[in-house]
Amino acid sequence: MSIVDVIFDLFAHRGSAAYLGEPVSQLEHALQTAWQGEREGAPDTLIAAGLLHDLGYILFEVPENIADRGFDCRHEELGAAWLSGQFPDTVVEPVRLHVAAKRYLCAVDADYQTHLSAASLQSLALQGGPFSAAEARGFISLPYAGEAVQLRRWDEMAKVVKAKPPDLESYRLLLEKVKLKAPMNSLVYDFQANEYSHKLSNARNK
Ligand code: FE
Repeated sequence: MSIVDVIFDLFAHRGSAAYLGEPVSQLEHALQTAWQGEREGAPDTLIAAGLLHDLGYILFEVPENIADRGFDCRHEELGAAWLSGQFPDTVVEPVRLHVAAKRYLCAVDADYQTHLSAASLQSLALQGGPFSAAEARGFISLPYAGEAVQLRRWDEMAKVVKAKPPDLESYRLLLEKVKLKAPMNSLVYDFQANEYSHKLSNARNK
């Protein structure tokens, strides 16, 4: 099973979950984010990062009201850790940095914060709030920070009810193209195998 098949499987099983407090599903949000990148002529790696940026929310069964419970599951770190070794840094790092990019944009763009949704403002508070001027300078000097800021702007635009982005299948070739040809770990497969066999034995025991 290739990493791309595992990702498609995740979206098939958990992609219909609500995108925490927003009116679209996780899959709709992912597709709309990638589509924004595509329409701006972004490189394939950043389109892939757009598609995968919130994967950390569906790797585990994160409760949809997690922010109401005052908890930040660090989905950007979970997603990046899961993808690293399977995709290049040009995909993994914008995913890791997309929450920091929100904190950055709130610090440097007065208009940006006024356009955040209620759910995004709620998670911003849990994620540490806007960066200070010094934190913002430190952030933007990081490798891939510029790409993460681009991705973040698409992220905010990707919450449109009844948008008609291309379907998931249309991104299969792009993901196959950008993934590492020689994956550096097999943890992903072990994790999935364990989870699926756990589910299967649970189902059998019912
Ligand atoms: Fe997002």
